[in-house]
Amino acid sequence: MEENILIFGHKNPDTDSICSSIVKEILSKKNGKNNTKAVRLGNINKETQYVLDYLKIEAPELIEKVEEGQEVILVDHNEFNQSVEGIEKAKILSVTDHHRIANFETAEPLYYIAKPYGCTSTILFQEFKEKGHEIEKKEAILMASSIISDTLLLKSPTTTKYDEEALEELGIISGINIEKYGLEMLKAGTDLDDFTEEELINLDAKNLEKNGNKFVIAQVNTVDISSVLKRQKKLEEAINNKIKQNNLDLFVFAITDILNSNSEIIVLGSKSNIVEKAFDITLEDSRAFLKGVVSRKKQLLPNIDKLI
Ligand code: MG
Ligand code: MG
Ligand code: MG
Repeated sequence: MEENILIFGHKNPDTDSICSSIVKEILSKKNGKNNTKAVRLGNINKETQYVLDYLKIEAPELIEKVEEGQEVILVDHNEFNQSVEGIEKAKILSVTDHHRIANFETAEPLYYIAKPYGCTSTILFQEFKEKGHEIEKKEAILMASSIISDTLLLKSPTTTKYDEEALEELGIISGINIEKYGLEMLKAGTDLDDFTEEELINLDAKNLEKNGNKFVIAQVNTVDISSVLKRQKKLEEAINNKIKQNNLDLFVFAITDILNSNSEIIVLGSKSNIVEKAFDITLEDSRAFLKGVVSRKKQLLPNIDKLI
């Protein structure tokens, strides 16, 4: 059968976007829909590659854009500026997401599952339960990996009891030591050495827009903030280029220490003062330390969004 319904997560895909797309395809097949196919909107990062290698599975196919009328299923995002080129004219059949709803509109009715959980895969885990489908080992590891990634092993303030329950059960099904596997997976994602500064600022960047202000919040995970800060001058050059190219008002680059749960942010752009107000900080050398801040969704974005 022709695979004509495409399933994908956001651009600059993270582990949740990739793994949830693959799991959603499996789920839709268990639900009797055989013509679905997981695809991706960007490069596989090293953390996600660790998961794919562990399971010995291929990455979903890369797509650049969709044609008018293409049937699609979105996971792990809804905002059009984080989605595929052509999304405005695609036919969105369903969305499964755990983010705010913004910059989103459809011409036709659709299924929309939004839950304020720590991870899309936690929502999919519940779908398995609701539909009475058995979770196999591969699916369990894919969903566990998503939850570990999005919640930083349940340490992020985005974590809910539903994520905890899901990860516990998925750990049992998968038969792996979640703590050990999770730490290795997260650490694989902190190997930033062979990325250029331009690649680093795009690795996990979200394009946002409000009141005519265009801004980006990008994030990288590390176990050693100072090793990334050694590259600050070149990072700033790359960020300033991006600001010029895309007419941005603000660029926030968060370097997140996943072991100690803090972030150092580099902030550039004409609206930088908004970030100072949002966190009651003074930027020095365009940067500041944010103690206890690890989540873009729950900490960085809402505070900035309120004031921009
Ligand atoms: Mg994501
Ligand atoms: Mg997610
Ligand atoms: Mg993320």
